[in-house]
Amino acid sequence: MSLPTEQLINELQSFGVRLADPKAGVESRRGGAGPSDHKALTIDGVTVMAPVHTAPAFDSPYVVEKPDSFGASRILRDGLAVAEVRFPARPRFYDLKTEDGVPYSHIATLHGRDVLATTVLQTCIRYQSRTKTCQFCAIGQSLAAGRTVERKTPAQLAEVARAAVELDGVKHMVMTTGTPPGRDRGAAILCESAAAVKAAVDLPIQAQCEPPDDDIWFEHLVSAGVDSLGMHLEVVTPELRRKLMPGKSEVPVERYFKAFAAAVPVFGRGQVSTYILAGLGDSADSVLKTCERLVALGVYPFVVPFVPISGTPLESHAGPTPEFMHAILKPLAAMLVASGLKATDIKAGCGKCGACSALSTYERRLAS
Ligand code: SF4
Repeated sequence: MSLPTEQLINELQSFGVRLADPKAGVESRRGGAGPSDHKALTIDGVTVMAPVHTAPAFDSPYVVEKPDSFGASRILRDGLAVAEVRFPARPRFYDLKTEDGVPYSHIATLHGRDVLATTVLQTCIRYQSRTKTCQFCAIGQSLAAGRTVERKTPAQLAEVARAAVELDGVKHMVMTTGTPPGRDRGAAILCESAAAVKAAVDLPIQAQCEPPDDDIWFEHLVSAGVDSLGMHLEVVTPELRRKLMPGKSEVPVERYFKAFAAAVPVFGRGQVSTYILAGLGDSADSVLKTCERLVALGVYPFVVPFVPISGTPLESHAGPTPEFMHAILKPLAAMLVASGLKATDIKAGCGKCGACSALSTYERRLAS
């Protein structure tokens, strides 16, 4: 391979890939929370989410050949093979339905290689009008297309989680939610969902929500069985937040920092994380300065390249260059390793999965 794996991942996530066989691997989602318009690929033992349906992907220099009968394939850049890739197998739980006929894949999906991910509530107070919606978010699209259900009940989540562990060996679960109207910001439905899953199966869970109004929710989440927590800044510069996330930016960055400081003693150092989308206008310097503050609090900053999702207001916004990602992720990985906050120590969630960013590969490079 001509590029180190972490830089190849940066390139794949910036440029996207073209697939010689679009049906290869696990079907990719269009729209929804988290990585949509992507395909999971395993390169050098690392599973990454690479954009396949985005506008830049159609012109990407990277092509993945049709896989052989064992799921193995090669990735070519401008016609030259640069790496072997594999497609994670389609999970067996996708073939099941609940008694009342809801496909399990409408309740939760496989992310990366071994993560079960669900959006407990597929609607959001921030998504009701174009003036309030986060400009990069596609949470309503999969619902409108009939590929998910609006509210996954605790019993449904427990049923699907048990099957995903037993049939496909998933190792952890991500529960995110659109923000409901209440002041708990979704913490209450995450509590009841986590409790039901934990009663059914032993599966580490990350919950993701905006900072709840009262820090007591962190204790309720832990009591319900949540192992780690994500509260996602997405963008760090206040003016950009107001422009790109007009509704969500009503919760200022400093409120997030207060919530981080309160949550870390409850969940433990390194078990609270945030998601930062690089490439939306924050400078590398401002992202790294924010990460320094986060790391000092014991919060894991999961920095991922922004990927424009079709149908969102930012569908034509360019993603970051591989060089921009390298300029952030290399020093960030050094900061994380030096302070003992490692992706591998996170019990559950996006930072542990790592498929949306090359960050954990940079960490592994430093540790090797
Ligand atoms: S990093 Fe998070 S959003 Fe990305 S594939 Fe993994 S679990 Fe899903």
